[in-house]
Amino acid sequence: MKLHEYQAKEIFARYGLPIQNGTVIERPEQIAGLSLRYPVVVKAQVLVGGRGKAGGIKLAAAPAEAEERARGILGMDIKGERVTRVLVAEAVDIETEYYLAFVTDRRTGHVVAIASAEGGVEIETIAQTDPEKIARAEIEPFLGFRVFQARALGRRLFLSGALLDEFVKIATTLYRLYWTEDADLAEINPLARVGGHLLCVDAKLVLDDNATYRHPNLPVNEEMTELEAEAKKHGLSYVELDGDIAVIGNGAGLVMSTLDLLAHFGGRAANFLDIGGGASAESMQTALGIVQRKPGVRAVFINIFGGITRCDDVARGIVDNPPKVPASIRLTGTNEVEGQRILKDAGIAAGMDPDEGARVAVQLAKAASGQRGGR
Ligand code: GDP
Ligand code: MN
Repeated sequence: MKLHEYQAKEIFARYGLPIQNGTVIERPEQIAGLSLRYPVVVKAQVLVGGRGKAGGIKLAAAPAEAEERARGILGMDIKGERVTRVLVAEAVDIETEYYLAFVTDRRTGHVVAIASAEGGVEIETIAQTDPEKIARAEIEPFLGFRVFQARALGRRLFLSGALLDEFVKIATTLYRLYWTEDADLAEINPLARVGGHLLCVDAKLVLDDNATYRHPNLPVNEEMTELEAEAKKHGLSYVELDGDIAVIGNGAGLVMSTLDLLAHFGGRAANFLDIGGGASAESMQTALGIVQRKPGVRAVFINIFGGITRCDDVARGIVDNPPKVPASIRLTGTNEVEGQRILKDAGIAAGMDPDEGARVAVQLAKAASGQRGGR
């Protein structure tokens, strides 16, 4: 899970890492109420890198200018992500930009510290153009990141004296944060020299999704859409795509092959929801409620192969909350006779053959798009 810069910096601040004063806002008018020293820097809060180059980071000398900058950045599209928040921080004069990160090296299974005197640009770029300018230190998990390693890295950045001490403090603290918060990546780019001191001008944190249960107070994943969050709340796995056929199935394998079937017949899924094994009438009802709410859904394809899941339960769920868009239903497996009868009594058609079900779903979506004049 990626965190926004402002979220990462809140955690940085808890560990005593030096950051600029700043506040995150959602509306330009909020700037007037902030007590910040000018000039400020207005920074788009999106989960993609290279915001500066994309025009998502602007300096402003006075509140009126900051408001104008915020107005320009809010609502911007940066690499497919819409900006809904900006961080307004006290701007600094940057003397030098360094790079510092801790990352899990999958090859060795160790954490690696990476540092460079060429900060500010993406590390991948430095790796390509000047690989020798990247310093690395492998970290032995049972020993942790040692002070001598931090000092050696700092010297590779040509730091000495008090500045080297500051670097050692920041690097060891960042490692402690990385380890304690179960991060996959903790990156400061640039780690800037400002007025003879080091300052974390940017902050990037990617946390290990498998460890979220150990950190109930950390921010929640913001990459989820409203419907994805709702599905998660109900314990259903739901993923959004960009076609027009909503898909409900049971089991990841069945759902994946359902997407392939739709594609085979020339259709495209709008989303898919896996109700899992042993799904109840209620989870089917919830599933139907969620998948159809996605804008642009023209048809729904329910593909259920009953094992632990019982077809009569599924059918009851469908009857209690019948699809509002044209639906193709394939229902076989445990209690299929009972399931089919429940649907038939409610006047809902259902089949047993997955190919036929997919073909019908694609047809229904095409017919619906014709009626609405297409998009
Ligand atoms: P990124 O482009 O998404 O990595 O965002 P950063 O926070 O790293 O900012 C990009 C660049 O904007 C930095 O490398 C700096 O050169 C510049 N920048 C950011 N904050 C300040 C600031 O307070 N003062 C100055 N002068 N430049 C800044
Ligand atoms: Mn950066």
